[in-house]
Amino acid sequence: MKRTESVLQRSRQCWVCGKRDPLEEHHVFYGTANRMKSERYGMKVYLCPEHHRAQPEGVHGGNRELDLKLKRFAQMRFEQMFGHELFMKVFGRNWLDQEEAWQ
Ligand SMILES: [Zn+2]
Ligand SMILES: [Zn+2]
Repeated sequence: MKRTESVLQRSRQCWVCGKRDPLEEHHVFYGTANRMKSERYGMKVYLCPEHHRAQPEGVHGGNRELDLKLKRFAQMRFEQMFGHELFMKVFGRNWLDQEEAWQ
């Protein structure tokens, strides 16, 4: 599959803390189907290993707050470019409308 550029980040650094090396690529909407869609629409950011996988501060390490923050940010950017209707069609879930997201 053709790799796309991130539409969420221009510089190659951790989206959270700004560290530059080492970095891992994170697909904001992950899981089997969503990962491919994230790739297709550039819904990805660079994260340092701590903010990517470490517990509890990593997005895959149980940091739910960071996970939601990234998803809301990505959805907003997507909708600025393509609109809400397409977002719902592609990802099927509205992260901006979740009460838990604002706690
Ligand atoms: Zn970091
Ligand atoms: Zn990831």
